[in-house]
Amino acid sequence: MDKSDISFFKDGLRLDGRRADQLRPIRIEVGVLARADGSCYIEMGGNKVIAAVYGPREVHPRHLQEVTRAIVRYRYNMASFSVEERKRPGPDRRSYELSKVSREALEPVIMTSYFPRSVIDVFVEVLQADAGTRTAGINAAAVALADAGIPMKSMISSCAAGKVADTIVLDPMKEEDNFGQADLPIAMTPGGDITLMQMDGGLSPDEFHQAVEMAMKGARDIYEMQRAALVEKYGKLEASTIEVKACE
Ligand code: UDP
Repeated sequence: MDKSDISFFKDGLRLDGRRADQLRPIRIEVGVLARADGSCYIEMGGNKVIAAVYGPREVHPRHLQEVTRAIVRYRYNMASFSVEERKRPGPDRRSYELSKVSREALEPVIMTSYFPRSVIDVFVEVLQADAGTRTAGINAAAVALADAGIPMKSMISSCAAGKVADTIVLDPMKEEDNFGQADLPIAMTPGGDITLMQMDGGLSPDEFHQAVEMAMKGARDIYEMQRAALVEKYGKLEASTIEVKACE
């Protein structure tokens, strides 16, 4: 299929029925893995991604130790069955890049100086991919870090905007990402400090500003969902702890 075969809009709506500025449905579940210190499962449209956090723990190999802070490792991996055409298992250039930029998106908010000589490991496994897996991975990883009790200055939320048929759209799905004119994923704190910004394709300065604004609005909405998922788990725990205390 080439992009000239695709009509991205029908009756003003996108192929999956969304408006240009609409996110795909999102589901976030906290603490889904018993053996991880923190974990999170996220669905963002057709993406299904799981994040597991281990640590802070001893660094192996030891020469990677930093005396003043914890190091953060992030491994993004796409399951071979997660995409239409089977992906060859194991790391590749794309997964190295995504691991690097995702780690850099999260590192600024992690209080690494609290844990010298240790490591915080983040594993992100993409089970099903439909474009935007790096943003889904970062969203899940940020929640998993909070679930692991890692001190953070703030949450990180991530979302992309794209351009299809000369229109700026929020949270592109696979057809829009693969055959569209641009893709601009960002990650940011709830206060609007951007920790990741990448761009594929071309945008005019006006379109760029519009895409950034749209992605930031998407990230703010995702932050509310990440927060709600954490409150769902820890808010309830707190309430039951209070009840137990009241009974004593
Ligand atoms: N994709 C694929 N096979 C690959 C890599 C990517 O089918 O080996 C698809 C997958 O759906 C992915 C999308 O292309 O989500 C966009 O990939 P991109 O590299 O832009 O990263 P993402 O948008 O997932 O962060």
